[in-house]
Parts: sequence; structure tokens; C-alpha cells
Amino acid sequence: MPECQKCGTKNPEGAQFCSGCGTKLTIFPRLEKKTRKPEKNNSELKIQVILALIVLILIIVAILMSFIPGVGIKI
Ligand SMILES: [Zn+2]
Repeated sequence: MPECQKCGTKNPEGAQFCSGCGTKLTIFPRLEKKTRKPEKNNSELKIQVILALIVLILIIVAILMSFIPGVGIKI
């Protein structure tokens, strides 16, 4: 029996609108499924991020070095 959220009138099963006030009856689905994210092992991801950062820093350093005269690779 869907009960009106507004006026509390009990409506027949399957009713979409309240017979008392005309408010649209909203049938709330059970939210039992908790969208809990699976706990991933973040240590592996962190290592990858750190490695990526190190590589990035090395690339930046290499670029900066090439701009400094006398430090870059002389051909
Ligand atoms: Zn109502």
C-alpha cells in the first residue's frame, strides 16, 4: 500500500497518484545495494605514481639541462 508522502493517504497498490491530494506517489526502491568501492590495494598504484613522477622529473631535468649552455650534450 503506497502511502502518500504529503498527506498520508493510503492508496491502492499500483496507484501513481494520491487519491487524497493528487500528489504523485514515488515508490522508493530499496537501496540495499551499497555502492561500496572494492578496497583495492593502493600500494601498487602508489609505487606506479611515484615511478611516473620520477621519470617525469628526470625528463624535466633533462630538458632544463639541454637549455643550459655547457651542460647539455655536446655533439
Ligand atoms: Zn496525498
